[in-house]
Amino acid sequence: MHVSGLPPYSEANIFARILRGEIPCKRVHEDAFALAFHDINPLAPVHVLVIPKGAYVSAADFHAQASDAEIAGFWRAVGRVARDLGLEASGYRLLSNMGPDAGQEVPHFHVHLFGGRPVGRMVPKA
Ligand code: 5GP
Repeated sequence: MHVSGLPPYSEANIFARILRGEIPCKRVHEDAFALAFHDINPLAPVHVLVIPKGAYVSAADFHAQASDAEIAGFWRAVGRVARDLGLEASGYRLLSNMGPDAGQEVPHFHVHLFGGRPVGRMVPKA
């Protein structure tokens, strides 16, 4: 079942190509469930993307369709990446854009990890 306000998953999306090694990335961490790499257009001193290895178009798709092991493995990887980057004392922000209102650009579920400076309010106040 397709559960996202996005088109079905496409193996041509840029993160699928990174997972297949067709496009290089600055890798931070990789395990059976997740790949983490630096964002190509960083918005903070630390801006890392963590993506699941599985083919999930969005946060909605991932959390509805992924197995418990995939979900646990992915979120443990997010925590590990933040810890390994030395961000636990200073803090960090996790963010995931889902669908049009959030401006999701890449249709493969991903979590942004921002740190290295105070990152301000959660979202601009309307
Ligand atoms: P979204 O708006 O979908 O939440 O964020 C997509 C992110 O992917 C953006 O921050 C963008 O800079 C990043 N990005 C897009 N293409 C590439 C790429 O080829 N390599 C890397 N490392 N990041 C990318």
